[in-house]
Amino acid sequence: MGLESLPIANLPEMAEIWQKTLNWQPTTDQAQQFQKLYQLIIAGNRQLNLTRITEPDEFWEKHLWDSLRGIAPKQVFIPGIEKGKRIIDIGTGAGFPGIPISLIFPNSQVTLLDSTGKKITFIETVLSALTLNNAKTLLGRVEEIGQQIQHRQQYDLAVIRAVSNVFACAEYSLPLVRKGGLAVIYRGTWTQAENESLEAAVEQLGGVIELIEEFSTPLSNSIRHCLYLRKVSSTPISFPRGVGIPNQKPI
Ligand code: SAM
Repeated sequence: MGLESLPIANLPEMAEIWQKTLNWQPTTDQAQQFQKLYQLIIAGNRQLNLTRITEPDEFWEKHLWDSLRGIAPKQVFIPGIEKGKRIIDIGTGAGFPGIPISLIFPNSQVTLLDSTGKKITFIETVLSALTLNNAKTLLGRVEEIGQQIQHRQQYDLAVIRAVSNVFACAEYSLPLVRKGGLAVIYRGTWTQAENESLEAAVEQLGGVIELIEEFSTPLSNSIRHCLYLRKVSSTPISFPRGVGIPNQKPI
């Protein structure tokens, strides 16, 4: 039996965890969509190096649960997201956290950005197989996209997971967020010292650190931190800097 035929999202214990941690449960339809997403990713992994997370439980925890927990600071989904927000997932890879977000919030418009053409082509097949009409792909480097008028300061919410160091993630995400909007940086470990050095960088980008939340994942008990950066003023036009610079020379 192939991995993809194993169930991931409809086990009773998963439903309980969703309820306990997010006060929410997927509908039958959404659970089926999660299962289909899992199958598509496992099948896609045979041709492309999409993810190392392939076991059903791990996929559920690290791709589905983690993606959604990030947009639920203090275990409550970001207010207004169900009514519809403009969201960008920067460096989406195989579609995380953006695809699970678009699946459960059909009124939101989700842009899935990545600089790797093969990943974007793969995601397009996934969006079409899941008939996810509220998500679209964007191919490019975020350093360039962040300077384009049609994207700069246009999003209510930017999410970014496992793309670069935290300074680069802040420089990639805040220029894309409108004033009043939020950037969410998904992290593993985090220290107080990192917190202090980030503060000045975020300020330069027109943001403030609103919340840093620590939690552990429900199955493997791994430590996670999510950083919530609120955009309070316009980002100076000098940010994001040119391709490669934010990553190599952190702000
Ligand atoms: N966010 C996904 C996740 O958590 O599973 C994928 C993480 S993967 C390790 C990092 C992704 O970021 C890759 O697909 C890579 O192509 C993309 N990426 C890295 N730098 C980028 C940039 N400057 N602009 C756009 N995409 C970038």
